[in-house]
Amino acid sequence: MSTMTTMTVAQLLAAAAAQGVERLDAQLLLLHLLGRPSGDRAWLLAHDSDALDDDLPARFAQLCSRRIAGEPVAYLLGEKEFHGLGLQVDARVLVPRPDTETLVDWALDCMQGRVAPAVIDLGTGSGAIALAIRHARADARVTAVDRSADALAVARINAQRLKLDVRFAEADWLAGADTGFDLIVSNPPYVAAGDPHLAALQHEPLGALVSGPDGLDDIRCIVDRAPAHLVDGGWLLLEHGWDQAEAVRTLLAARGFVQVQSRDDLAGIARCSGGIWRTVK
Ligand code: GLN
Repeated sequence: MSTMTTMTVAQLLAAAAAQGVERLDAQLLLLHLLGRPSGDRAWLLAHDSDALDDDLPARFAQLCSRRIAGEPVAYLLGEKEFHGLGLQVDARVLVPRPDTETLVDWALDCMQGRVAPAVIDLGTGSGAIALAIRHARADARVTAVDRSADALAVARINAQRLKLDVRFAEADWLAGADTGFDLIVSNPPYVAAGDPHLAALQHEPLGALVSGPDGLDDIRCIVDRAPAHLVDGGWLLLEHGWDQAEAVRTLLAARGFVQVQSRDDLAGIARCSGGIWRTVK
């Protein structure tokens, strides 16, 4: 008699559900272990009585336990889809959020009508924003910076795998950056230190999340320094917290940006704010 544990697809998914793993998460983890693409959920349904043995049930149980302990699915899979791109991610970078696609779409709108626009992504992390922009606009000259060498290593791997030409630099926001950008875009840390929401984000890099007592330290710094690096008519676009739109618009207007406005995320919450810099007023 074999001592191997044999379980069917349906049994494995039922065990995961009993552990408290969400159905979609469990399906993605199982497809990952089977070496199948994440779009293959229909395959699981069609094969729910297939028996899986060897060490697969044990490896699946292990991933489920890590998920229950709060690790993002993206880290367990080692990848995350963002704006149509498959990005490699791990604990060195914040997991790209679907809401940030709003920022990319807005950035692309701002680039319309500009030929070979110069763009810089501040705090690029996995490279998500910079790579999505470069992918959508092959003529854009895209720079991406991060103060974390660890994060930049991940971003560089993503650029290489996706064959997208982005220039990377290790820098603290705009320190040492060129001038003359058509667009500065950033999803900086914006969570207030001590925010109870941080407990749910404990597996992600704190440096990518927290920004002083009100969460606005980095945004204040970027708003203050951006004008020196923008062309006349250049845009600054920032992602921020669900309750920070008014504060960020006030900062932008006070610094002298015009056409200051916000855009909603997928949940209808004003999640990004930006404005245009005019050198000739
Ligand atoms: N959107 C993230 C969250 O609150 C925070 C990302 C960030 O600070 N830039 O889950």
